[in-house]
Amino acid sequence: MTGQYDAVLIGAGHNNLATALHLSARGWRVGVFEQAPEAGGAIRTGEYTLPGFRHDWAAMNLSLFAGSAFHATHGAELRRHGCAFVPVARPFASSFPDGSWAGVSTDLAETLATIRALSPEDAQAWEGLVKGFAVRAPQIFGLLGARMKIHALAYFMIKTLWKSGIAGTLDLARFLLSTPRAWLEETFRDPRMHALLGAWGMHLDFAPDVAGGAMFPYLEGMAGQAFGLMIGKGGADTVIRALVASIRARGGTVETGAPVVRILHDGRRAQGIELADGRRIGAARAVIAGVAPSALLRLTGGTEPGFDARMQAFRHAPGTMMIHLAMAGLPPWRAGKALQEHAYVHLAPDLDQMARTYRQAVAGLLPDAPVLVVGQPSVFDPDRAPAGKHVLWVQVRMAPGTIRGDAAGTIAARDWPGAAEPFAERALDILESHAPGTRALILGRRIVTPAELEAANPNLVGGDQVCGSHHLSQHFLFRPAPGHADGSTPIAGLHLSGAAVWPGGGTGAGPGFLLARRLAGK
Ligand SMILES: Cc1cc2nc3c(=O)[nH]c(=O)nc-3n(C[C@H](O)[C@H](O)[C@H](O)COP(=O)(O)OP(=O)(O)OC[C@H]3O[C@@H](n4cnc5c(N)ncnc54)[C@H](O)[C@@H]3O)c2cc1C
Repeated sequence: MTGQYDAVLIGAGHNNLATALHLSARGWRVGVFEQAPEAGGAIRTGEYTLPGFRHDWAAMNLSLFAGSAFHATHGAELRRHGCAFVPVARPFASSFPDGSWAGVSTDLAETLATIRALSPEDAQAWEGLVKGFAVRAPQIFGLLGARMKIHALAYFMIKTLWKSGIAGTLDLARFLLSTPRAWLEETFRDPRMHALLGAWGMHLDFAPDVAGGAMFPYLEGMAGQAFGLMIGKGGADTVIRALVASIRARGGTVETGAPVVRILHDGRRAQGIELADGRRIGAARAVIAGVAPSALLRLTGGTEPGFDARMQAFRHAPGTMMIHLAMAGLPPWRAGKALQEHAYVHLAPDLDQMARTYRQAVAGLLPDAPVLVVGQPSVFDPDRAPAGKHVLWVQVRMAPGTIRGDAAGTIAARDWPGAAEPFAERALDILESHAPGTRALILGRRIVTPAELEAANPNLVGGDQVCGSHHLSQHFLFRPAPGHADGSTPIAGLHLSGAAVWPGGGTGAGPGFLLARRLAGK
């Protein structure tokens, strides 16, 4: 062995960095080894189009990180190392094909005015939801932050029963199992309200008719109303730079350009890792693999047949394509200038279109009308672009990892190098139809296909941005496999971590912090 640590971590995604910092703070010697030239995984920022235009490669919305238990514990240290956020008071809006729009602002009166323009009854329904959020939020956030063990879940159920009674508990359970469509249609009347919130399900793989998906439109809507949204100052990588600096300041190692090719073990206990350059690094207490389940299997060479079969069968969600645009100005939204003041503008006209898009992507087809999430971060953080100019972060949902055909029948290519340009043009046509004149403002662009997302970060299998479907059969106690939702594996001292493990994808550092506290005992 050429090096010896208490814990060796594979991959420098924010989850592993969070684990490494927490363990360092508890006196562990940690070494993090990352295959890419830079740390951060799905949280990276760079000049991907033109000099002076800083784009978030993948994650842009850091609300989950800023509101996380990890940040509550280590935020002061991160701030000392330069971590800074920009709060956004108008988190999201939707532009509709008929020229109307609706949006959410932390100013309730403002939100209600936009909803009232669609439907007075829906404005009332929104007000009711906002009032109820104070009761429901601690229940849901309590569940999402809990260790996912049977006894922890039983304790959660008993607490909910005690506080909310049988009717309240059943109501919560029914809500947690609902599809986005079922909840949206019983809550709001106007189809545009269904679309405004339903689009949030598409950030994961909760198309409108997938059970268990209602929670996400609800939480994003209510959290957006209550807290707005957080982006990183200067770029999302502010959190990564601060995490790496904090770990190094505590004596830990973060090495980039260091692919891990093997996990060393004797079938019973993990001993360390082997790097592509042949170095073997020892781990006295833990090897933590922040990788996709199928990669864990490759790195170990197999552990125990039942567990290995689950890792092999782990399902990924459809992919994402990103389009980064350097802009001479903001999109001239047809629905009005107000849309330029929201962090995200969703172009997702109705639930049926979202359902169709999802079905097409799952079937390997390039969707005929994909959902677009248009991020406008430089409105709130002007330093990301030269004076008066802007960056746009355009997420195209969904896109197949492997292309079997084109739902519109006009793109002949069956691989991403050939399909990238015409599919991006399809997406830009949609943007142009909502904001005529946008194309003329584009100064530079960089398309990132699902295949490129995976090439840069092997955890994003097929461009799956959340490292694994969050459908009910693979969530809660079942993420990534029954009995292993805490990241434990059949090999002592070897832990799986990152977005594939409960509580899953996003920038909330949940899997990493739950594991760190379990290992450190606090
Ligand atoms: C396009 C896109 C947009 C997103 N937008 C948002 C958003 O706005 N808000 C939000 O909350 N979430 C968003 N997400 C999801 C979120 O970013 C991820 O779920 C989260 O960052 C995953 O973090 P992680 O620590 O689990 O791993 P990752 O960030 O995936 O990092 C894993 C790291 O491990 C490394 N690695 C893998 N194998 C090896 C190996 N063998 N050796 C060494 N290193 C290895 C990889 O190179 C990578 O750096 C987005 C994701 C994508 C892709």
